[in-house]
Amino acid sequence: MTNRQLFLQHVGQTSEAPLCLNIVRAYGSRMWDAEGKEYLDLIAGICVCNIGHRHNNVVEAIKKQVDEYLHIMVYGELVENPQVQYAKLLTDYLPASLNAVFYTASGSEATEGAMKLAKRFTGRSQIISFKNSYHGSTQGALSIMGSEYWQQAYRPLLPDVLQMRYNNFEDLHNITDRTACVVAETVQAEAGVLVPKDGWLLALRNRCTQMGTLLVLDEIQCGFGRNGSFWAFEQFGVVPDILLLGKALGGGMPLGAFVSAKNIMDHFTFNPVLGHINTFGGHPVSCAAGMAAFNVLLNEKMMDGIKNKEQLFRSLLQHTLIQNVSSFGLMIAVEFDSFKTNKKVIDALIVQGVFTDWFLFAAHALRISPPLNMSDDDIKIACGKIIDVLDSFH
Ligand code: PMP
Repeated sequence: MTNRQLFLQHVGQTSEAPLCLNIVRAYGSRMWDAEGKEYLDLIAGICVCNIGHRHNNVVEAIKKQVDEYLHIMVYGELVENPQVQYAKLLTDYLPASLNAVFYTASGSEATEGAMKLAKRFTGRSQIISFKNSYHGSTQGALSIMGSEYWQQAYRPLLPDVLQMRYNNFEDLHNITDRTACVVAETVQAEAGVLVPKDGWLLALRNRCTQMGTLLVLDEIQCGFGRNGSFWAFEQFGVVPDILLLGKALGGGMPLGAFVSAKNIMDHFTFNPVLGHINTFGGHPVSCAAGMAAFNVLLNEKMMDGIKNKEQLFRSLLQHTLIQNVSSFGLMIAVEFDSFKTNKKVIDALIVQGVFTDWFLFAAHALRISPPLNMSDDDIKIACGKIIDVLDSFH
């Protein structure tokens, strides 16, 4: 059997039509398949490889940690240097109130932990989220996903959850003194890059503060420099009570985290003790890789170029078949009339050596979330191919 056949036969599948590229190497903004064909990567593993694939500093940090230790004990018992140093670095670049990092192995687990922490801290049960939000696929995270289509087959899910409309000021009145937390993506990603309206996040923050409700901002996809600041919330003048991190946090290794004030986080330590535990959270190799990636983001000043690169994409992505381009930093959604057109574009681009994807709740939109250091030349090549493909449809 070929590798492709083995993949389809023995690896658990998530759709009837996986992309099935047989990638054997990746570096910077490029990937190569088994036949030696090169692909420009316009999605960076869906906002994971923010500093590009296999940055030398990340690879070196991984090798160094591998020579010291791999897993040594479940999360939270031993002083593991990579966890400690990374938590110190992250909190140095977060507002003072976000000073305790709880590590997980994935974004979904960060969502789960944050929901539990909010219930435990407030003694309340209601959790509010937003339509077209995505916070993970585990049962708790699925319970607050903003889509009946993905929820219906898995009911019953968590009780006492409510969905509001993102960017809607009136709906904020649903937040009351029985709401434990509101979970929101600072910029809704899978909705097709939906940016908060002027003043809306601030109104949400204020309503939560007024009701004693914790505000949980999910920056699993939009954080880690992607929008031109370390964290997207910095651009809206708000600070969450709990911040969710994942994806790029591990520099290409699996890592998630939720971050809060220490006095909130400490509620996991009593009544009951071990209120939230896991085995692999903050794996030392992932923390070493993530810290190296964070330092690259800093030292190579990758966030400085993002607004210009966003503008470059926007100026090049003009075509009669493109109905709209929505963007916030290097999170870009290129909208077509339908999923059918979008899928045709995606498939044709793969043939042309450009790797893209669609969005969960915006299937008609092409996803562009490249490595933050993709060169202007590569952006021009990628956009040129997108336009060529669209021209070929006329
Ligand atoms: N929140 C957001 C905004 C995400 O984009 C994702 C992953 N797509 C998650 C949570 C869940 O992360 P993971 O897939 O690592 O569990």
